[in-house]
Amino acid sequence: MRKNILKVLGLVAVVFLASCMERSTKMTDESNVLLASWTGPYGGVPAFDQMDLDALKPALEAGMARNLAEIDEIANNTEPPTFENTIVAMENVGRDLDRVFAYWGIWSSNLSTPEFREIQGEMAPKLSEFRSKITQNQALFVRIKAVHESDEIDSLRPDQQRLVWLVYDSFARNGATLEGEAKERYAEINKRLAEIHTDFSNNLLADEEGYVTYIHKDQLSGLPGSFVQAAAAAATEREHEGDYAITNTRSSMDPFLTFSDQRDLREKVWRTYYARGDNGDDHDNNAIIAEILQLRNERIHLLGYDNYAQWRLENRMAKTPERAIDLMEAVWPAALARVKEEVREMQAVADKEGAGITIEPWDYRYYAEKVRKEKYDLDSDEVKQYLQLEKLREAMFFVAGELFHFAFQAVPEGSVPVFHEDVRVWEVTNKESGDHIGLWYLDPYARQGKSSGAWATTYRSYETFNGKQTVLASNNSNFIKGAPGEPVLISWTDAETLFHEFGHALHYFSSNVEYPTLNGGVRDYTEFQSQLLERWLLTDKVIDGYLIHHETGEPIPDALVAKIKNAATFNQGFDTTEYLASALVDMKYHMTDPTGIDADAFERAALAELSMPDEIVMRHRSPQFAHIFSGEGYSAGYYGYMWADVLTSDAAEAFAEAPGGFYDAAVAKKLVEHLFAVRNGVDPADAYRAFRGRDAGIDALMRDRGFPVPH
Ligand SMILES: [Zn+2]
Repeated sequence: MRKNILKVLGLVAVVFLASCMERSTKMTDESNVLLASWTGPYGGVPAFDQMDLDALKPALEAGMARNLAEIDEIANNTEPPTFENTIVAMENVGRDLDRVFAYWGIWSSNLSTPEFREIQGEMAPKLSEFRSKITQNQALFVRIKAVHESDEIDSLRPDQQRLVWLVYDSFARNGATLEGEAKERYAEINKRLAEIHTDFSNNLLADEEGYVTYIHKDQLSGLPGSFVQAAAAAATEREHEGDYAITNTRSSMDPFLTFSDQRDLREKVWRTYYARGDNGDDHDNNAIIAEILQLRNERIHLLGYDNYAQWRLENRMAKTPERAIDLMEAVWPAALARVKEEVREMQAVADKEGAGITIEPWDYRYYAEKVRKEKYDLDSDEVKQYLQLEKLREAMFFVAGELFHFAFQAVPEGSVPVFHEDVRVWEVTNKESGDHIGLWYLDPYARQGKSSGAWATTYRSYETFNGKQTVLASNNSNFIKGAPGEPVLISWTDAETLFHEFGHALHYFSSNVEYPTLNGGVRDYTEFQSQLLERWLLTDKVIDGYLIHHETGEPIPDALVAKIKNAATFNQGFDTTEYLASALVDMKYHMTDPTGIDADAFERAALAELSMPDEIVMRHRSPQFAHIFSGEGYSAGYYGYMWADVLTSDAAEAFAEAPGGFYDAAVAKKLVEHLFAVRNGVDPADAYRAFRGRDAGIDALMRDRGFPVPH
């Protein structure tokens, strides 16, 4: 997952996607630490050690006011509109606010507190109003439109032409073409959406924090030692010393359901987790979903679209909901067929044990693990002994060195401020030229107030149009901190996620675009680069050099690697089905007339229509589907992971077929040049064709998942 401030705010305009930091000198209020210019080494760095929540509201208000003043200056320019005085000028707008958002992102994702959430709730609608003021600035839009339609366009470079189109499109698609009552209503809808998107995510967080299952010493059967330790620490943290806390997050639920021998407890933990936002109490999200869908539908009707998905996908790589659905429906039957096989195998194991049960959803992970051990003889815990967090980090640096020519060097202690003692920082340089590329921040460990899961983000992005600006990127995850001096061992899936998020960071670091807006992501394309990077975890150089036993120092044995590779298609029925069910329901929600919709009934009917297997639940049930309801980042866009995975599988085969395999210099060069460095400066379909010489098909994806390749 890639997280940025847009997702947090639910903003969609490309002007904000553009956002970067640095200066527009005259108006900086140096007395507010959040607005102040970034000083210090490496082109200036955020003052994370001086973050002051009391400064947030004034900083946002001042930042918005300055941003609007800058916009007015462009809109009211008496010179005829040109690319330079309109489009390029806008690229420089909002620098102050961007700096504030870098801190906002930390409070929102890494250090959340009830105090912050209160400010967030208050400011979200104000930020939405602010954004509407920009997209609805008629004088500004008239100028943008004039440039878009002018002859000057023909004299611009392709990346500049694309910039004009992206800016024009973001305005046109976000209400700039409306007038009168429709225009007012449009802004009202956005304001209300900003409020309830925030409510949705706060309700979810409340249920993640509010429901904890405490268990006792005699209920630990089957659970790995590391999990038990973490559960004990989590209980102590919550003043339940002596108990073990199963928290209501995926990172706690998933291993518990995989390993706990206590079926009744598995059911309890499963039910608690999948009821988040659906408990009929103050934090219930069902009514919010209905309101969100109705408002989104009303809004796109103002713009003349048939449904929300049509509007949403128009500027995505897929272009239309139908193309996205075609892909999902091509894979769905194979996934269902595989689930049937998986359930049959698990039932056989349960029967052999004399368990006397029928496989239920809370049994899936548990018996899948048994099948994994029996059929593939692969013990997750054994694999884990070779997956040391720090070694994996070194492996990622190695891969980045081989493919991207990046070198990583820890910054001198104390030279770069951090927001928590666990955060570490590396300088990234080009290993041949020594050129400074940026800083990489790593915040690896779980803590209260930190969002669950893993994500990558930037505090500052690359650009050159106004002087070269280097990248400040971060990776964030939720590993359980080990005892002092003990290595942190992680699961295979977590190791893949680590590489995945690092792929996002490399995507940021590789940027060679001139204008900030061209750093923006295309939702169904931007997961491709990160998913592709996961493939290097299983390359020989990484296996031999970095997958080292934490006690013996021995590299992972060939036999175990063979088992991992052999098991790669294991449980693909479950994984693909729980994901696709969410992606298809997301698309259905956004192609339906939502008048009077009841989310609970809609979800049930949609799943029945898909013949969803009884043993599996959506990966994100509607009341907890933050991707699509806590903002618009992934709304009618959850399919994007699979869309990107089609590209991933196909691109990975380009390496597999090359003489130098995954380290083939020629393919790597094309990879960096066409798929990473251009960011959004080139249409993704064209970029992919430049890399591969053709479009991607789904055959490679089907092979990767062990599904039959369609004829
Ligand atoms: Zn991602």
